[in-house]
Amino acid sequence: MISTSEFIPLSIPEIRSNEWKYVKECLDTGWVSSAGPFVDRFEKEFAHCVHSPNAVATVNGTAALHIALLVAGVQPDDEVLVSDLTFIAPVNAIRYAGAWPVLIDADRQSWQMDVNQARSFLERKCSVSNGETRNRQTGRRVKAIVPVHILGNCVDMDPVLQLAKEFNLMVIEDATEGLGSRYKGQPLGTIGDVGCFSFNGNKIITTGGGGMMVSPDDEMSRRARYLTTQAKDDEIEFVHGAIGYNYRLTNIQAAIGCAQLEVLSEYVETKRRIAAKYTASFQNVTGIVPMPQVDWCYSNCWLYTILVDETQARVDSRKLASILQQNGVQTRPLWQPMHLSAPHRGCEPSACPVSEMLNRRSISLPCSSGLSAEAQQRVISTILQHV
Ligand SMILES: *Cc1c(COP(=O)(O)O)cnc(C)c1O
Repeated sequence: MISTSEFIPLSIPEIRSNEWKYVKECLDTGWVSSAGPFVDRFEKEFAHCVHSPNAVATVNGTAALHIALLVAGVQPDDEVLVSDLTFIAPVNAIRYAGAWPVLIDADRQSWQMDVNQARSFLERKCSVSNGETRNRQTGRRVKAIVPVHILGNCVDMDPVLQLAKEFNLMVIEDATEGLGSRYKGQPLGTIGDVGCFSFNGNKIITTGGGGMMVSPDDEMSRRARYLTTQAKDDEIEFVHGAIGYNYRLTNIQAAIGCAQLEVLSEYVETKRRIAAKYTASFQNVTGIVPMPQVDWCYSNCWLYTILVDETQARVDSRKLASILQQNGVQTRPLWQPMHLSAPHRGCEPSACPVSEMLNRRSISLPCSSGLSAEAQQRVISTILQHV
């Protein structure tokens, strides 16, 4: 029984700023590729937006993560701690660098990386000597930690920074879902040594595809710009000093990014309003856990997600998803936990019970910044009718 009313997508981009105007400028002037004024402008305006001294634009968020790991000094056969409950990109990026992910379970309250579990791994399984941390079992150096800020909420960063200090780890924030969010007032992505962002079509702002790496460290940023542009030492003779990558964002994409950045704060406000409405509607409903809010996080509410507790509700999350689907509402569960995914199944550890529970119970709801109040009400009513 397909509803006759309009289909409500999960999360789609909204193009209503100066995108056309800026893209036209690129086409009219012929600056369409990876050089051109908009790339520099986008980097500058983005850096300003998140209060970072440096920003390097990349073809996508995954490339930003790959480069961030390299400039942070992650080397083949190092180990890198990373959230188990995440989109797969940061875990893949660790493998691109030839390093090994150590998966950290999620925290029950915040759904983010459980930093206590990271501490327990480092304290129980590793030793520190000569300023280096090694996994005693594998003999490998543990070089970095990648907290993934999921859904627009924040990993608790103070204890991450404390761990980094004690165990000599580089902190690479995956802030790809967290542009506009703040941890204790500080923009996500600017708290660790390096931060990465994504402008994929489903993110809070989009360039079609794109990414950004930010860092307070000038040398790491310079190195990132060098590596993302084929490590060219001589522009004329084409002399290259390293194995670089073709990871530079194009001027057309950056033009779209400049326009999107102009309306970021409006998108964040809208997303927060949508989230507040969902949370108010589900607050005291048996069987539903609304998206967590934690004191230390000002969230961009990127992807509004609830848990359906199958022991208390009349349906489980997948059944509810199929009912919503029949009513023209697109939803999605959270990602398959990394320790269960085929390419990363061998990683330590083999059990992450909290991320498994969150995956099983979760359902992300439509929350595009263009979502109408009527459409949102339809989603809410359908859910309340069936749980
Ligand atoms: C979107 C996303 C990425 C990757 O960004 P792309 O631009 O799609 O490469 C990385 N990590 C997380 C958590 C993401 O959600």
